[in-house]
Parts: sequence; structure tokens; C-alpha cells
Amino acid sequence: MNKTSLMLFGIFLTMFAQGFSQDNEETESYILNKRCYELRAPSLDKLKEARGKLDRAVDQFRKHFGQYPPKIAVIIFESIEEMEGYDFSQFTKKRMPYLPWIVSNHTESHREVNHLPEEYKDHKAGCGINHEAGHMFLFAYIEKKAQAVINTAKNSKGILEFYGHPALPDWYDEAVAQLCETDANQHGHISFMKNNIDKHIPLKKFLEMEHPSLQMILKPNNADEESKEGPKYYHTLETPENLEEELIFYAQAFSVAKFLIERKSEGLIGKMAIPLAEGKSIQDVFKINKLDDNIETIEKNWVDWVKTQKD
Ligand SMILES: [Zn+2]
Repeated sequence: MNKTSLMLFGIFLTMFAQGFSQDNEETESYILNKRCYELRAPSLDKLKEARGKLDRAVDQFRKHFGQYPPKIAVIIFESIEEMEGYDFSQFTKKRMPYLPWIVSNHTESHREVNHLPEEYKDHKAGCGINHEAGHMFLFAYIEKKAQAVINTAKNSKGILEFYGHPALPDWYDEAVAQLCETDANQHGHISFMKNNIDKHIPLKKFLEMEHPSLQMILKPNNADEESKEGPKYYHTLETPENLEEELIFYAQAFSVAKFLIERKSEGLIGKMAIPLAEGKSIQDVFKINKLDDNIETIEKNWVDWVKTQKD
């Protein structure tokens, strides 16, 4: 879960890396080229499995943004080692955002090794290739639509200080990624929020806070190779406290987005992206979209709404 989300740092680092090139032997893979993604997998089964999830992410993005997401590359690996030997320059050369996905890090046995507390075992926050594709689609969309803003943000802060897109609030990144998940996962987020509504993060703080994952980062497994370009894999230090805050953050991001959509319109979340990336305050973005309530009122209405949702 945490490892999944933190892969993004590696991805962003790579996207911005200049002059990267590497000569490696091509591993044999199955390739599927579609309008919004180019998918490579080590077997036909893995290709088909990923295709279904990526199609879901594309459909959901379209639903919320009113247009197809920009094209990304998705490469499935069996292990970190396999990923590290891969030549990503084919994508960086065409400035195509890419998502490396490591199968062995997303299996049930991995979750057990990761000592996830029993009560959270069934709650899947931030996992799934459709979730990560959602992050990547949003990133590529903002890159395309608001290039100047990103350059400013990138130059004023080190890229590793960010979670998700540097110009967007972290809750928004997480909300869009979760909107790209399956209905069953989304239902899980609402139900988790309902059961933990007393622990919710005050909305004013929540809408501006950094992703709780940022507090848990350990150095990348390949950090010793400073000069080596390519995705870096960040490990996290989980404690019951920070894990709980992180799970609340995920569930709250989704449920606030879902509440805003139900209250206004399906396209509301998509319409918020550019003004947020351009640095408008959340209050201004709400106003632009004719949400005139103050944050306290929105918070109260959201809490009431969460309590009426099905378990
Ligand atoms: Zn995420």
C-alpha cells in the first residue's frame, strides 16, 4: 500500500531526469497499444488482468474530466530487480509518463510480510494498478494543460518534497486516483470513513496538508547508486499511528470528493484540477464552481452525508 504510493516519487524523478539513457537487453514482453496507454507485461495473463484495470481507470477519468486522459506507458515487472534492469529511456525520450508496476509487491503474502494490522487487512487503500494509473493520468493531464505552472513549482522546490503532482494539493491527487478504482474498492473507502468518522481530519487542515506518507519515507533501495537514473523504490516506516492517519487520509480524500460530486455534479472534480494547479485557493475553487458554503459548513454537511452512507 505505502510502497505503491511511494513509487510515484521514483516515477516523477525519472520523468524529469535529463539525458537518461541505458543499454539493456530487451526482455521479452507482451505489448498492448491503446488510445490512452501502452501496456507491457511478462505474460498474456498479466497483460489481460492489467488491461481490465487500466480500462476502468480510463473510463473513470473520462467520466470525471470529460475527456480521455493523455497516453501513458505501463510496464509490469515480476520483481524490483527486473525493473532496475529495464531501459526506460524509450519513454523518457518521447516524454511519455510511465508507470512501472511490480507484481510481487502487490500480492496478499506481501501484505502479510508487511505486518499490516488485522483490522486493516481488508481495507485496501492506495493499491491497484488502476489507482496508480489514475495518479499518472492526472499528472500527464496537468503537464499538458498547465506546463508553465509545473516548471515554476519544480524550480522553487525539490521534486522529492512533493507527493503526487507538485502543483496540486495531496488530497486531490489521492481523490482522483481513488476515483479510478473499482466500485468495490470505492465502497470500502466510504465504509471505512463511516466507521472512523470520529477520527476524521478537520477539513481546513485536510485540504492543505501534506500526504501522511511523506513522514514515513526511508531511503530508496537503490539510493546508493546516486548517479543511476530510473525509478527509485522508496520504503516506508509504518507505525500503527501513522498507518491509521494515512488510512484516514485516503478514505477522507475519496469521500470528500464523492460528496462534492453528489452535491454538485459529476464533472466537479475534473473542473477543479486546473484552478488548483494554477494556485487558486480551495475557497476560490469552490466559489468558481458555485459552492458558496464556508469550509465549516461543507465539513458539517460532509460528516452528515458520510453517516448516512451504507456500510
Ligand atoms: Zn495514491
